[in-house]
Amino acid sequence: MRLNNLAMPRLSASSLNLAPTDWFDDAACKDADTDVFFPVSESQADAAKAICAVCPVREECLEYALEVRPGDGVWGGLTATERHRLIRRRQKAARKARESRSAA
Ligand code: SF4
Repeated sequence: MRLNNLAMPRLSASSLNLAPTDWFDDAACKDADTDVFFPVSESQADAAKAICAVCPVREECLEYALEVRPGDGVWGGLTATERHRLIRRRQKAARKARESRSAA
């Protein structure tokens, strides 16, 4: 994956004001068609997800996307909608954990 033209990370690290991360070099999508990671609809994300499924840095990629919130595209095997749902689930779980601790 090239940092200036990231297939998956279609954003450059510099545009995000982030230092390049080592895991980019191991991305399974580094030579993939960028368009694959920008499906027209969520239902057309299977090709990108298939690449992500065998990517050795999927976890790192997903956490990166959850942090920087690039908006669109498939990152870490999840579409933007799926990432949004994951963020909501994590927020809900964290809230419940806080509530449980304060109730104890
Ligand atoms: S998880 Fe998917 S989008 Fe992320 S680096 Fe791997 S292949 Fe690319």
